[in-house]
Amino acid sequence: MRFMGRIQCPSTERCRAQLSFQFRKDRIMKIVVDYDKCTGSGECVVICPRKAFSLVEGKAVLDEEKCDLDGICIPACPNQAISYSEEE
Ligand code: SF4
Repeated sequence: MRFMGRIQCPSTERCRAQLSFQFRKDRIMKIVVDYDKCTGSGECVVICPRKAFSLVEGKAVLDEEKCDLDGICIPACPNQAISYSEEE
């Protein structure tokens, strides 16, 4: 699609989301849980749209295969136990 002489994508928001996701994947980011901070509140289990978290012995355990790195769980944790980290 052309707009004011420039070629523009008609689905800009979607493309941005895709690029953001690809960027995180390319940087090999992952979600990590700090088990010193995790109290097993279960907020991440409830809020994760992909059901990637479960509680095991009172701690949040992530299934990385299900996680799409959207980061929704990070602000949901009342103990700031969840964050992004670069994979080593
Ligand atoms: S980053 Fe998104 S998909 Fe991954 S565990 Fe958190 S809420 Fe679920």
